[in-house]
Amino acid sequence: MKIAKIDTIAIKVPFTFGGQPFGWGGKVWNTNDILLVRVETDTGIVGWGEAFCYACLEAVRASVEHMIAPMAIGRDAGDIAGLSRALQQGLHLQGRYGITIFALSGLDIALWDIAGKALGVPVHRLLGGAGRTELPAYASLFKYRNAEQVAARTKMALDQGYRYIKLHETEVPEVRASREAAGDDIPIMVDTNCPWTPEQARLMARKLKPFDIHWLEEPIFPPEDFLSLARLRREEGIALAAGENACTAMEFAQMLRAEAVDYVQPSVTKVGGITEFQKVAAIADSFGVTVMPHSPYFGPGFLATLHLAAARAVPGGLIERFHLDLEASIYGKWIDPVNGFFKVPQVPGLGPEPDADVIKTYRVK
Ligand SMILES: [Mg+2]
Repeated sequence: MKIAKIDTIAIKVPFTFGGQPFGWGGKVWNTNDILLVRVETDTGIVGWGEAFCYACLEAVRASVEHMIAPMAIGRDAGDIAGLSRALQQGLHLQGRYGITIFALSGLDIALWDIAGKALGVPVHRLLGGAGRTELPAYASLFKYRNAEQVAARTKMALDQGYRYIKLHETEVPEVRASREAAGDDIPIMVDTNCPWTPEQARLMARKLKPFDIHWLEEPIFPPEDFLSLARLRREEGIALAAGENACTAMEFAQMLRAEAVDYVQPSVTKVGGITEFQKVAAIADSFGVTVMPHSPYFGPGFLATLHLAAARAVPGGLIERFHLDLEASIYGKWIDPVNGFFKVPQVPGLGPEPDADVIKTYRVK
């Protein structure tokens, strides 16, 4: 079974989140963008992958079409690990992090979908079995920079059944508002997206500590300053999470060796796909660090995260649900937890096929 064809399909689905849209990567962020990587084999099996593309869709798409596809077409679709290694080696001059690996992640996820479909089993079966059929979700609130809105959205998520809340805020009033809205028993995580120097992070960690933060995420720029992260968690006694901006198992090994985090956050559409995610998870297990997947996704990357988490022998991981209100979803109900839990797909491959009508409506050139 050989890889016969690789296509990219980009969709942009408008969303609302109850706050003022803001810019990211030089663009206003008001659509959820999914770069689908559609792979077809010479036996007619179609697999779907997703490459990270937030504010970089055109670049990642070009990487899939012009760098990945020419090297992958004609190769054995079942030799996923071998192809991952060959492409990483073959493309190392173009950079081991960022766009190249995002593109490779999209292909890798599609190949696992194909492998599951070819064997007639869900992807989690290929990854070691499903220890669990449903997985706890957390509501990953968007950025509001407004305490009242954060409180309202916190309450909304709790009413919907979520039992864990993550904020994307960097100031005390918003964190306080969420804690007051949630009460004392709900774990609240604070994702800051690399805003501070190590010194600033130390001062902010002290200010945020009274609100019983479950983890503080990416407090320091640059994200690969693992020694400063390690010092922050050691000296301030605050739990840290990071990893969505690390690519490949090699960088995660450095992070873990430095004792930089309490929760490690590989992102399947960025790290190198399912193949590389599994390597990261194995390293994390050997360090006794909990894997907490980064997955603010609504495409095959989201389903892949469910399978990876379901197949883990080590419990503890929560599944991130970006708390946006999407105009449409290619996976319908699968993106919505019920009473705070996601169902793990049980059909061959990653799960449901993406909705062709939704793709047609929201497809962009
Ligand atoms: Mg984050």
